Amino acid sequence: MSKVLIIGAGGQIGSELTYKLRKIHGDDNIVASDIRFSNIDITKSGVFEVLDAKDYDAIKNCVIKHNIDTVYLMAAMLSATGEKHPMMAWDLNMNSLFHVLNLAKDGMIKKVFWPSSIAVFGPTTPSVDTPQHTIMEPTTVYGITKQVGERWCEYYNKQYGVDVRSIRYPGIISWKTMPGGGTTDYAVEIYHKAITHKTYECFLSEDTQLPMMFMNDAIKATLDLMDAPEDCLTIRSSYNLSAVSFTPREIFESIKAHIPDFSISYHPDFRQKIADSWPSSIDDSIARKDWKWNHDFNLELMTKEMIFQLEKKYQSSEKVS
Ligand code: NAD
Repeated sequence: MSKVLIIGAGGQIGSELTYKLRKIHGDDNIVASDIRFSNIDITKSGVFEVLDAKDYDAIKNCVIKHNIDTVYLMAAMLSATGEKHPMMAWDLNMNSLFHVLNLAKDGMIKKVFWPSSIAVFGPTTPSVDTPQHTIMEPTTVYGITKQVGERWCEYYNKQYGVDVRSIRYPGIISWKTMPGGGTTDYAVEIYHKAITHKTYECFLSEDTQLPMMFMNDAIKATLDLMDAPEDCLTIRSSYNLSAVSFTPREIFESIKAHIPDFSISYHPDFRQKIADSWPSSIDDSIARKDWKWNHDFNLELMTKEMIFQLEKKYQSSEKVS
């Protein structure tokens, strides 16, 4: 039975990954960790450690203490926050990856998951159906850390045989936890505001098309990639992954079909420039071929599920207060 450590388990993706892995492998086999006690459910539903991903000794001690063989490194500073704190983003995103890769290189862990992002692409990348292998000149600090991280993952695999697996996540949409400072955060906030205020001020322009994915698909992809036989994997940097692409106007219209008095206004801020440098759609045919990736949620299904879950969530919090 595998013993898993999730670093950054309190975040948008880490928390849902923790719930899912605990369901599959049992609470005792999944150690959640974060720099702080940020998510009460994660800390209560199984083992939880406060752990700084920049601290090599702390990660090593935790791996030894819990006999860990697999690490999911989900701690990172995301695109919008990274532009405000470039050196901190570099420090966290790069050093945490080196710590985990070096533990694997030294044989202390067997398998690593590390997420990359569509932010590895830049304004010179072909933006429609962006191929797996293409021009990559990212213009954000976050994108630079992900691009460099991909190179190191491939290097550690080829040179040292480290079994590190990676996905270039698109913008992830979910209802359990709020997103953590990315450029695609609008696509989560819009659902919350539609339900609580019936109006939303969007920080991207109405026609900015970006690749997106519902959380259930992102978790499924992550676990499928980690379960795939090693000899099926042809990409050891990071796999392109895709589900849907839409604009703020299209997500607004899909919500309005359920909430007719919902309104929107557009006030692009500094995040528009970041979004403009990213692809509008992604070609993920290699992931579909290598490990049979397939998404389940299109925009319509995602909107239905988001509204259903968030209405339930807000109703139950009203009852409590
Ligand atoms: P998030 O910001 O929601 O969560 C990150 C977590 O890391 C937080 O709980 C935070 O407290 C924790 N953390 C921060 N500094 C830490 C430190 N020094 N030590 C330990 N923990 C620390 O991020 P997320 O959206 O869940 O993203 C997870 C991963 O997926 C990241 O690598 C991110 O780059 C990648 N990704 C996310 C998206 C998305 O849309 N959410 C898209 C592409 C890639």
